[in-house]
Amino acid sequence: MTSVMKITPLPAFDDNYIWAIQPTEHAPAVIVDPGDEAPVLRWLDEQQTELASILITHHHWDHTDGLLPLLNQFDVPVYGPDNPKIEGISTPLREGERFTPAGLGEEFQVLETPGHTLDHISFYSKGMLFCGDTLFSAGCGRMFEGNAPQFFKSLRKLAELPAATRIYCTHEYTAANLRFAAAAEPENTAIREAQQEVKALREDQQPTLPSTLARELQINPFLRTKSADEFARLRKWKDEF
Ligand SMILES: [Zn+2]
Repeated sequence: MTSVMKITPLPAFDDNYIWAIQPTEHAPAVIVDPGDEAPVLRWLDEQQTELASILITHHHWDHTDGLLPLLNQFDVPVYGPDNPKIEGISTPLREGERFTPAGLGEEFQVLETPGHTLDHISFYSKGMLFCGDTLFSAGCGRMFEGNAPQFFKSLRKLAELPAATRIYCTHEYTAANLRFAAAAEPENTAIREAQQEVKALREDQQPTLPSTLARELQINPFLRTKSADEFARLRKWKDEF
């Protein structure tokens, strides 16, 4: 099932990706973090398909503003954090819960990953992780609501998933993240190689995502920290970088 699944990035705003998951080509789609309904509606129209369900990782507007407009047109289930401030969630989810999104024959597991926000959850299914603004390629989200021990623990949780897991995060920040990663780990040749690959992809206007957990364990300084204190120092440095 996983191998035939089709996952498409729908660019939104300056550097967001809204992920569209389809069990097979042209099947109704599961949409992850619709910050804007317009790119989703355009793509559904192009694909001549419909919305099956929606996943939400956290409350930020650039992940949720398209939710109610989409629900006006499609009566579909919405799976997301147990946060009453997010209007439209029909199935609030907690750590460890398993569910099969409408439209997909694949079970997802919920991982609570606080740090960027307190309500942040990530969705894991065999071979793929939708992690919103928790883990980026070569970086991680800003620490808006959580604290360093929480964020560190969330990243440790993700680091324990199978190494082949594909990482579908929300932002195309990879090139900027790698500039910081190269400063943080000047001896790390994997980071230098990744910079060359990412430069070529961006010149070709290709997404640098999904990444894989194996790759992130090599090039992501935040995922490589050994303690919450080390994470806190690195996060602070990146904020000022
Ligand atoms: Zn966010």
